[in-house]
Amino acid sequence: MTVVVPFCGRITPRERQESLDAINAALNNIRVIPFADLTDGERRTARMAVVANPDPVDLLDLPMLEWVQSLWAGVERLVEETPNSAVRIVRMTDPQLAQTMSEAVLAWTLYIHRDMPTYRQQQGDRRWQQHKLALPEERPVGILGMGNLGRVASKRLRENGFPVMGWSRAPWTKADIPMMYGPSGLEAILRKSSIVVVLLPLTPQTRGLLDDWRLGQMREGAALLNFARGPIVDQGALLRTLERGHLGHAVLDVFDREPLPKEDPLWAHPNVTILPHITAPTQTGTASLLAAKNIQEFFDRGHIPEAVNRDLGY
Ligand code: NAP
Repeated sequence: MTVVVPFCGRITPRERQESLDAINAALNNIRVIPFADLTDGERRTARMAVVANPDPVDLLDLPMLEWVQSLWAGVERLVEETPNSAVRIVRMTDPQLAQTMSEAVLAWTLYIHRDMPTYRQQQGDRRWQQHKLALPEERPVGILGMGNLGRVASKRLRENGFPVMGWSRAPWTKADIPMMYGPSGLEAILRKSSIVVVLLPLTPQTRGLLDDWRLGQMREGAALLNFARGPIVDQGALLRTLERGHLGHAVLDVFDREPLPKEDPLWAHPNVTILPHITAPTQTGTASLLAAKNIQEFFDRGHIPEAVNRDLGY
């Protein structure tokens, strides 16, 4: 008999179909189908679901739900929208996603390191002016958030000659780079880094973490790359810190509101590079295979993968 698994997601029909096709191709005797296509009986008995930015109302309609497999790495919205739920949330931890993110971190670190924003502006002014070229060894990079993404990014940066420091929540005994913790550690890493890369999850603890005061702790002329979630950096504070010339440049992939509203002053700021949330999109092929493996193991052996800690929010 074929087990039916609901797919709940507020994504485009094309994205949904691509994911469904890829997941179903890797499953045996299990079929993932859109939530809207479930029969009443299938709704009543579904034990798990595949989700991608799901409508929480759909999940409430699945009384036997034990866990959900997210196709996304960031699940803060799902955690927030299902506050008292016992349903376990398994997020996407795809090694390919970490590689893609590390490529973005390296690319934009090199963009800052080789003074590309300055030369772009000089070209606009037809100005021929050379600036002193620093070595990668002279540009310490601080990574806030040393999880799946931060660790791979750290390795890639070090392979390219950049000294890397990390900041995370719980002490990490096997660290092969200098690690810092807590508020004093955050202050220290901000003070020591030429480039700060944000790869933290959005939780009640990290929301608004980089405020006026903390951005002011960063080195004069330093750069900020936010590739995690917009609200971790206070957008108004960032603008003020750039306006007063304290920060050199910000590369932003994520924002409080996405798409970034056309009237937002960040668009026109000469020291800001805007990316449309593109640094590490879910790779349908590899993510679907991982999701299918987890689903198959659950129905074959009853195993649920490690879930998000709802108390911590990630
Ligand atoms: P992860 O494996 O859960 O790692 C999170 C890291 O942040 C861990 O090192 C954790 O510390 C640290 N952390 C969490 N709360 C903290 C706090 N209060 N203080 C200090 N450190 C804290 O997450 P991930 O897979 O690397 O992903 C990180 C985030 O990237 C996701 O949540 C998502 O929002 C974002 N993302 C963005 C894109 C994009 O395209 N822009 C793509 C994918 C993901 P511990 O190690 O001590 O637990």
